[in-house]
Amino acid sequence: MGTNKKKLVVLGAAESGVGAALLGNQQGWDVFVSDGGTIKPNFKSMLQEHGVTFEEGGHTEATILAADCVVKSPGIPDKAEIVKKIRAKGIEVCSEIEFGYRYKGNSKIVAITGSNGKSTTTKLTWHIFKTAGYNVAMVGNIGRSFALQIFEQPAEWYVIEVSSFQLDDIHQFRPDIAVLLNITPDHLDRYEYKFENYIASKFRITENQTASDVFVVNADDPEIHNYLTTHSVNAKTVFFTMDEQKIHDEGAFADRDSLHIKYGTEDMQASIHDLTIKGRHNQYNSMAAGITGRAAHIRKEKIRESFESFEGLEHRLEYVATVRGVDFINDSKGTNVNSVWFALESMTKPTILLLGGQDKGNNYQEIEDLVREKVKAIVCLGVHNEPIHQFFDGIVETIVDTTSAKDAVKAAYALADKGDVVLLSPACASFDLFKNYEDRGRQFKDAVREL
Ligand code: ADP
Repeated sequence: MGTNKKKLVVLGAAESGVGAALLGNQQGWDVFVSDGGTIKPNFKSMLQEHGVTFEEGGHTEATILAADCVVKSPGIPDKAEIVKKIRAKGIEVCSEIEFGYRYKGNSKIVAITGSNGKSTTTKLTWHIFKTAGYNVAMVGNIGRSFALQIFEQPAEWYVIEVSSFQLDDIHQFRPDIAVLLNITPDHLDRYEYKFENYIASKFRITENQTASDVFVVNADDPEIHNYLTTHSVNAKTVFFTMDEQKIHDEGAFADRDSLHIKYGTEDMQASIHDLTIKGRHNQYNSMAAGITGRAAHIRKEKIRESFESFEGLEHRLEYVATVRGVDFINDSKGTNVNSVWFALESMTKPTILLLGGQDKGNNYQEIEDLVREKVKAIVCLGVHNEPIHQFFDGIVETIVDTTSAKDAVKAAYALADKGDVVLLSPACASFDLFKNYEDRGRQFKDAVREL
């Protein structure tokens, strides 16, 4: 490391870490990147290309503990030894969005968080801004990191998908528009198994906001509601809900046919039937994105037009094909019980549900009623399917076990009648049988196409 420059250490060299490292380097920091595992070749060559020093397979403590600031990748938990030592020494720890924020210039920020729906809402919001002709970049968990985007190609607006891990180490990060979609238990292993810690972490998205900023938030979420009754928020708070009664001057609600978005002195409506993304959860996501667009002064027509042209995202209630009258839907990203609830809720035909994978301590009670109502058979797709059998034996007549996407699709197809739907919405992580949820979704789609 050099002499007079301030020292930046970046822990973890993946998308966000490499972004922070390159931005730091550009902004005159003396940067050192340290990754306890192996660094992927493409990230390595990016660091090399810009002359950033790095190590992998371990952490050189002396160098790391000499830092003025440490950017910690969201994947590294606080209980990691090196992080404990950094904190014990009182070195400033930032997340990558915090670091990026310091170099954002005059640009504006939309930050979107929640337990479910982040990627969908982020992409839809970006699509609205794009359609309106704004100079906008979509960043965060969904693609390029915020810091890398600032380094490579600064924009006037950033729509950032933000995880709770990224919020854990912010200090000044202040979105012009913050969106909180919902809060249901997830990642509790990182929050000492305390749900309240996870909730508090999600609300940090608004902690630095002022009265000139906007906080777009779900009024139907009980956890959000509870939190707001005991904590105050500085930003202008705008709600979205299914219940018209909850909306007074401003906010959004949905009825049977339309989304109603009231912002400023203007009201707009959009037909639910024209939304390209289906299901109640997507009405929530669309209201959140719509309010955000209005708060950024985008015209109503542009928002409506965007709702009608949005292509959605792969692996989120993605229609695959209809084979001899049986529909196949890929919701491989449905990796927790709550997202399966919304997937099932939007099913209008008898459903064969593909469930299973790496269980995160799931409680299936939440979907029991919907399963009783809509599911005629369950096809388990995982190494350990005991939790599914334990809960659903006696509730669902037919439950079969499979260990490959191909077998699961074949089994489901054999169980299906014309007019049924086969839904992959696993409620579990994919790492027991697949590389990741994308791999699971693609193998599912390939198997459907081979039928
Ligand atoms: P995230 O980025 O937060 O994981 P995604 O937009 O990728 O969210 O959606 C993940 C899954 O969660 C989807 O498959 C969908 O079934 C479900 N989902 C999407 N939006 C919502 C929502 N607002 N509330 C509950 N579940 C949702």
